[in-house]
Amino acid sequence: MSVGVKNQCQTPLSPKIERLIQELLRKVPQEHLAGLETIVLVDQVTHKRSRRQGVRGLYWPASQKRPATIELAPSLIYHGMPKFLLHMPFFAKFALANILYHEIGHHYHHRFAHGVTEEKSQSFADNYQHQMLKKAFFWWLLIVLPLWRVVRRFRGKRRQLGKRGKSVRLA
Ligand SMILES: [Zn+2]
Repeated sequence: MSVGVKNQCQTPLSPKIERLIQELLRKVPQEHLAGLETIVLVDQVTHKRSRRQGVRGLYWPASQKRPATIELAPSLIYHGMPKFLLHMPFFAKFALANILYHEIGHHYHHRFAHGVTEEKSQSFADNYQHQMLKKAFFWWLLIVLPLWRVVRRFRGKRRQLGKRGKSVRLA
């Protein structure tokens, strides 16, 4: 089963982003994606409190209203990054991967762990994100990670809302 990518952004988005997401999804073991129907690209996530916090990605577990969904906000993911980096495919992809793999971690965790604390869920997703980044970018990381840390520091200074992706507990 493949996961669909739906673009619901009002602001124009590079068509490359959908392709990058598909490439990143191919690195994930199929069983971790089971039940995940769509990655929706949005200007801002639809959960109100998270939107106010400026989160860049959100996981919605399956409910009666909708199947399991991940929302990603590319314009927030790339906000504050030096423009020249976005023209470098590695950085464009790596920035997306940070948020996408975290949210997939929530999806995977949700299937076998119910009723865990928010803290546990976050640490599982953080851990999953790091494992997947290592797997997907192994050779790149050896070379580029030091530079990436500089970019994050640079961005942290320019941006008040340094929030990472968050999951929502609906129940
Ligand atoms: Zn999270």
